[in-house]
Amino acid sequence: MNKLKYSSLLLAFVSTLFIGLTACSDDDDDNQEVNFKKPVVTLTEVGHANSSVAHPGSDMHLEANVVAEAGIKRIDVEIHQEGKGSFEIEKSYTEGKYIGVRNIEFHEHIDIPETAPLGEYHLHFTVTDNLGQQTTAEKHVEVAEGGNDDDDDD
Ligand SMILES: [Zn+2]
Ligand SMILES: [Zn+2]
Repeated sequence: MNKLKYSSLLLAFVSTLFIGLTACSDDDDDNQEVNFKKPVVTLTEVGHANSSVAHPGSDMHLEANVVAEAGIKRIDVEIHQEGKGSFEIEKSYTEGKYIGVRNIEFHEHIDIPETAPLGEYHLHFTVTDNLGQQTTAEKHVEVAEGGNDDDDDD
């Protein structure tokens, strides 16, 4: 009788332990909110006809495809001089048609100041989603002399 009681107590204890462990490991997966993937960013066109060339005093055509499962919170575009120079062009989108959306075709024209020195630049296109997850796409850009012929593209 005693032995049987002891066995069932032991069994109960082991079961509790086992359930406890199972519950514990389950917590990690189930307790969190749905996992949204980081934004996926593809730069589809940089510069007129994807030339990656911009002209001082003109604007640079920029197109990107963005998929952000958690919704887009903000988009930051930064174009900085490569090498010695520290000239920077920055543009942020924190409201408007892209914000809160999950899948966009980004299309904007970035103003290149007349004072922008000619030469090699580096473009960062950073998307932050509503969970704070960030993805940056990068591209080499050249600021070169040239006409304003790229103002007329769509
Ligand atoms: Zn355009
Ligand atoms: Zn850079």
